[in-house]
Amino acid sequence: MNLAAYRKKSPWILHYNAGGCNGCDIEILACLSPKYDIERFGMINTGNPKQSDILLVTGPVTKRSRERLVEIYAQMPEPKVVISCGACASTGGVFRGMYNCEGGIDQFIPVDVYVCGCGTRPEQIIDGVVQALAILEKKTKALEEPVQLKRAAKQEEGQLNRRELADDIKPLLT
Ligand code: SF4
Repeated sequence: MNLAAYRKKSPWILHYNAGGCNGCDIEILACLSPKYDIERFGMINTGNPKQSDILLVTGPVTKRSRERLVEIYAQMPEPKVVISCGACASTGGVFRGMYNCEGGIDQFIPVDVYVCGCGTRPEQIIDGVVQALAILEKKTKALEEPVQLKRAAKQEEGQLNRRELADDIKPLLT
C-alpha cells in the first residue's frame, strides 16, 4: 500500500492560534474561501490533533499557550509536518519582548516550513502548504522503508533495549 501517495492527496490540517492578533487566521480562512479554495488539494481543516497530518500555527507562543502547543503536537501521529504561519509564529513578531510572549514556536516544537509576512497572504500560505506536502510525502516514505538497525538489538534483563532501537529510528522522523 502506497501511504505516501494517499496522504499527500488528502492531508488533514490542524490550525492553532498560539496567541496572535487574528490577522493570519483571517488569511487562513480566506484560503478556504472559493477564491483560493485550498480544499482543491484534498485538505480538510480538522479539529482533532489525533487525525491531523499538518499543524498550522499562527501567533507567538505565550505563557498560557505553550503547554497546549506542545500537547497538541505530541498528540499528532507520525509522520507530521509543522508550518509556522506569519512573523509572530516564527519569531514572536510584534509581540516579541512582551511580558507574556515566549517567542517563536520553534523554541518548543520542531518547525518544517516557515511562511513569512504580517499577516501572511493566502498565496504564501498555499505555497507553504505545498512545501509541507512534499515534506509529508518524504517523511511518509521514510517511515514505510524497512529500518536497517545500526547495531544488534541488545537484551537487558530478558527485554529488548527499546531506547537504543528508538535512537536508530529517530533520524527518519526528523
Ligand atoms: S504575523 Fe501579523 S497578522 Fe499574523 S498574528 Fe502576528 S501580528 Fe497578527
